[in-house]
Amino acid sequence: MNEFDVIAKFFVPLTNNYKGAYGLKDDVAFIDGIILTSDTLVEETHFRTQDDIKTIGQKLVRVNLSDIICKGAMPEFSILNLSWPSQRRESDLIGFCEGLKTALNEFGIPLIGGDTTKTNGPLIVSMTMGGRPLKSGPILRHKGKIGDAIFVSGDIGCAKVGFDALNTGNGDFDFCKHHFQIPQIPKLKLAELIADFASSSLDVSDGLLGDCKKLCQEDSEIKLNLERIPFHREVENWLKAHENHEKAILELASWGDDYQSIFCVEESNIASLLKAAKSNEIKITRIGEIVSKGAGGLFNRDNIILDPLRSSYSHEL
Ligand code: ADP
Ligand code: MG
Repeated sequence: MNEFDVIAKFFVPLTNNYKGAYGLKDDVAFIDGIILTSDTLVEETHFRTQDDIKTIGQKLVRVNLSDIICKGAMPEFSILNLSWPSQRRESDLIGFCEGLKTALNEFGIPLIGGDTTKTNGPLIVSMTMGGRPLKSGPILRHKGKIGDAIFVSGDIGCAKVGFDALNTGNGDFDFCKHHFQIPQIPKLKLAELIADFASSSLDVSDGLLGDCKKLCQEDSEIKLNLERIPFHREVENWLKAHENHEKAILELASWGDDYQSIFCVEESNIASLLKAAKSNEIKITRIGEIVSKGAGGLFNRDNIILDPLRSSYSHEL
């Protein structure tokens, strides 16, 4: 069973139809004006044992924060659950805490609780983060309407290029390697733009192509243009080294760990959104639109359909 089947079969019934759980189909839950999200990092799954220990705490804060930002909300507090391997040195623990402090201070997020245990297994760090929506509630998934434009913040593909470069010992791709370890999430200010202009949103954690599908309802589909997907300069260089350009782009856009926001915007809001993004120096790119059922897919520059939009990355249990 994959993680999505497990959630649907075993966990959704346990919500008892609690309204703010959104049927476990959104990035966050919503209760009394606060949104909540939770993410876990496991050694050798989400980070490598040899990664600088100071980066783990930073990554943990940032992967949670990307869920808060994409919902049009500001972070309010965090809760940390730490399962510390008995064989790790105390200097590692100090390093982990330093990284955690750096990130929490950078974004002004207090730590208000948690749990600490020892384990004979790998290092596992988990964080629950609370945030306050800038509007009356979070901007949800599956709310985009036919005709809405689809935007993505920042760049896509850095995590995969960085991960491969770290593992092969490639001396290039410094920005991407850094992004794999300390994800370059959008500015907090993007939350304001999403709250003001987006009809639907989520963050890109499981692959751009699969995650984009979660922007619309079942009576519609997304149409994406491969050539419009924004890539960092280093990723453009990585792409140049691949003979099959389109296949390489598909690989990047299905890999995940981008932690950017994707969101839908009604035509009438686009001009104001672009103006606000420009004045706040936030990179956003229009990569497609929501269309009627049957008209969607991923298209190349010749308007030829390449891929009937694959599914997201998922953990097999
Ligand atoms: P994301 O990709 O944003 O991290 P996930 O795909 O991990 O979100 O989770 C999808 C939904 O399922 C979310 O609402 C999340 O809170 C919920 N969920 C995931 N794992 C569990 C669990 N073990 N117990 C309860 N709810 C869960
Ligand atoms: Mg998410």
